[in-house]
Amino acid sequence: MAKKVAVKKKAKGKYVYFFGGGKADGNRTMKELLGGKGSGLAEMTNAGLPVPPGFTISTEACTLYYREGRKVPASVDKQMLDNLAKLEKAAGASLGDVKNPLLVSVRSGAKFSMPGMMDTILNLGLNDKTVEGLKSLTSNGRFAYDSYRRFIQMFGNVVLEIPKDVFEKEFEAVKAQRKVHLDTDLNEEALRDVVKRYKGVVRKRSGRDFPQDPLEQLRGARDAVFRSWNNARAIEYRRIYEIPDSIGTAVNVQLMVFGNTGDRSATGVGFTRNPATGAKEFYGEFLVNAQGEDVVAGIRTPQPISELEKVMPKAYKQLRDITTRLEKHYKDVQDFEFTIQDDRLFMLQTRNGKRTGYAAVVIATDLVDEKLITPKDAVLQVDPESVSQLLAPVFEPKAWKALPVATKGLPASPGAASGQVVFTADDAVEWSRQGKAVILVRRETVPDDIHGMFVAQGILTATGGMTSHAAVVGRQMGKPSIVGAGALEIDESGRMFRVNGRTVREGEHVSFDGLSGEVKIGQVATTPSEILKVVAGEMKANQSPLYQRFEKLLAWADKFRRLGIRANADQPDQAETAYAFGARGIGLCRTEHMFFGEGRIPIVQRMILADNEADRRKALDELLPLQRGDFYGVFKAMHGTPVTIRTIDPPLHEFLPKREELMVEVATMETKGETGRELDEKRALLRRVEALHEFNPMLGHRGVRLGITYPEITEMQTRAIIEAACQLAKEGVKVVPEIMIPLVGLVKELRDQKAVVVRVADAVMKEQGVKVKYLVGTMIEVPRGSVTADEIALEAEFFSFGTNDLTQLTFGFSRDDVGKFLSVYQDKKILDKDPFATIDTTGVGQLVSMGVQKGRSARADLKVGICGEHGGDPSSIHFFEKAGLDYVSASPYRIPVARLAAAQAALQVKVGD
Ligand code: PEP
Ligand code: MG
Repeated sequence: MAKKVAVKKKAKGKYVYFFGGGKADGNRTMKELLGGKGSGLAEMTNAGLPVPPGFTISTEACTLYYREGRKVPASVDKQMLDNLAKLEKAAGASLGDVKNPLLVSVRSGAKFSMPGMMDTILNLGLNDKTVEGLKSLTSNGRFAYDSYRRFIQMFGNVVLEIPKDVFEKEFEAVKAQRKVHLDTDLNEEALRDVVKRYKGVVRKRSGRDFPQDPLEQLRGARDAVFRSWNNARAIEYRRIYEIPDSIGTAVNVQLMVFGNTGDRSATGVGFTRNPATGAKEFYGEFLVNAQGEDVVAGIRTPQPISELEKVMPKAYKQLRDITTRLEKHYKDVQDFEFTIQDDRLFMLQTRNGKRTGYAAVVIATDLVDEKLITPKDAVLQVDPESVSQLLAPVFEPKAWKALPVATKGLPASPGAASGQVVFTADDAVEWSRQGKAVILVRRETVPDDIHGMFVAQGILTATGGMTSHAAVVGRQMGKPSIVGAGALEIDESGRMFRVNGRTVREGEHVSFDGLSGEVKIGQVATTPSEILKVVAGEMKANQSPLYQRFEKLLAWADKFRRLGIRANADQPDQAETAYAFGARGIGLCRTEHMFFGEGRIPIVQRMILADNEADRRKALDELLPLQRGDFYGVFKAMHGTPVTIRTIDPPLHEFLPKREELMVEVATMETKGETGRELDEKRALLRRVEALHEFNPMLGHRGVRLGITYPEITEMQTRAIIEAACQLAKEGVKVVPEIMIPLVGLVKELRDQKAVVVRVADAVMKEQGVKVKYLVGTMIEVPRGSVTADEIALEAEFFSFGTNDLTQLTFGFSRDDVGKFLSVYQDKKILDKDPFATIDTTGVGQLVSMGVQKGRSARADLKVGICGEHGGDPSSIHFFEKAGLDYVSASPYRIPVARLAAAQAALQVKVGD
């Protein structure tokens, strides 16, 4: 195989790309234009692999189809016919030729694989006459009619939009009539009967006869594939995986090869490594005498690929050789499809395989050990979200062992899943909306179940193999999944299943382990993952190979990243976890969270209820040692790395009981005629709560505004910080405190608070006789702060972007209420993504960039970070890399994701882009 692939430029006005006879118009670099499948077929053809010839109608043609009001332009149709002629020549057969008919498959294939979401049609070109031609060519009437009935069913369903089960019913009726169990037991005559019935279905449902003209069939199939880009499940899939709607799908038209000509034929799919665990083993499954869709559809449970070695050793060896070469060529695990027709192997697809987070880490580290890829490739190969999957809980071993195994299925995607059984995707969505954890139990999943699979804790199916829909999608979602648990007798309409004599009804609990395949009835408690145990010091790193791989990958990532990684943590234990995960600094310590600690709320309330400064100071004096203790712990846990501590931010009413509840309590006591101290206290509390009540608390008396009105709070907090720092300095421990003032929009606000901080810090250091270096900075989280960042930087020694508030205030969307309309905005495509999860680069992002640039123009060495939720979001991290920030700060469990995403950002984009 060629080592280097030149990036081919797409030719203007070219919409159809041929592949065949060892040469293809496209190659692997053209995924965008030809889709993953099309570019893979081109690449394999160029490499001389046995690929049936065909052509790819590009994604640009799909865009044109939609632009022209769902019509393929004549020029594209003409190119298709020209390529069809080429294909006929290469195949030595013609479309519609009664004696020697060309039969093709028509398949979708977008840039990103969307398993089962779009449509496929096989055996196109068959009609009442060519089926006879096929029969005499192959001397196999059973095969010819089996192919024809499949074609009518697929065409009827995909092009004419007749539900699948209408065909299934007819098929089952013929099977019942002939008293056969397996599809393969139907003989030619029975299949002719099926064809007749199917044609009747088409006539009845579509009002016309099944089209006999193969060109009409081809155009219909092509357009239906384009149409399927916008079916409900494909749209839902793209929403989940954030695939743009605009990119469209390609259509691949390819000479049919048949896995259903008899016992010397087969079809299958596989992976060069185990996509669930990452183990280096040839992995996959196949069905003898079957067509492609049978394997993935989960209707028949296929045989493991190792059996192929026994039944068709030559084809097996060739398949292993080819796929090993493909893995080396693409430098990644390959997910392939093949068909064996009368002992001859054909490759139908190859692409980088989707894998679980667990497998992703195992595979990437193995490929580096095998010298197939470099550490840099490994860092780029693993989706940052994968590493967070490794932190998911596992079953508590004792509780798990205590329950008997109800059955075992195929372990399709690892992880512990426990929840209430539901039998439909809609129920899964409804129940989880009610806050219930659900396990979606299905005979087999279909692409339409995607929304239910997404919300379920786990997916459990009775049929299908490791490459069935449920397995593929479950793995991709990182969702624990078991498939092919054949002992389950599922009665979906009765909402129950039976297993080994037990009946389990909807709502009962089931638990399963997606790594071992064991299913148990009942609820089982979970415990932290191995990685968390190592991080918490409960397990040694050298006892956990998984942890070692995880850390190896992240250590490579650290070599490539420019951005520093800090954590948002308020408690010493959180800080320890964050440090163990690799955070080197705290980017945001929300001091108010400490006010909720045990026994503290009454003191905080006393401080708030005080109606004079002296009483307020009394309460603050009580809080001082507690806060000092917290800061001491956090500083110590961070081993001399910088710790940014923010002064109090939220509106004070958050620390008081709810106004409405108090009103009810007071009214109830009054109606009961109660009097006395308790009622008086409640009334006083209510009066204070009323006084603090705000209509828009998020825009109200909070942040720096609190420190300005109650400077004694800032004083107490500064004192607590600096006293803790002095204490540690005396103990010889390095500390780097950074005191941060929130919600600043005016330089004078910061100046006011900085004066308080400096005055108290100086006093404390004098009292303690120690000097510690500390910084005073600000959050940039109101738009005015960004716009006047040059002024603010004259006072601030560092900035930290509070992108939560900055998003709220830039959009004018309340953080607390946005949920009410955000989904409508997303459905209507007014917003692609939730701007509170992924930074809005065009709007909020401009304020960030402006803030950085203006801030640094006034103070060249200004340290700039971000501590909003976006700090743990990979695509936002790409933006922060470009904006030239110094660090991102994320919650402790997002630190591994942030480390990897920051490395990818450094390798993929440049500061200033
Ligand atoms: C922010 O606004 O982005 C931020 C980090 O502060 P908080 O979420 O506490 O308002
Ligand atoms: Mg904020």
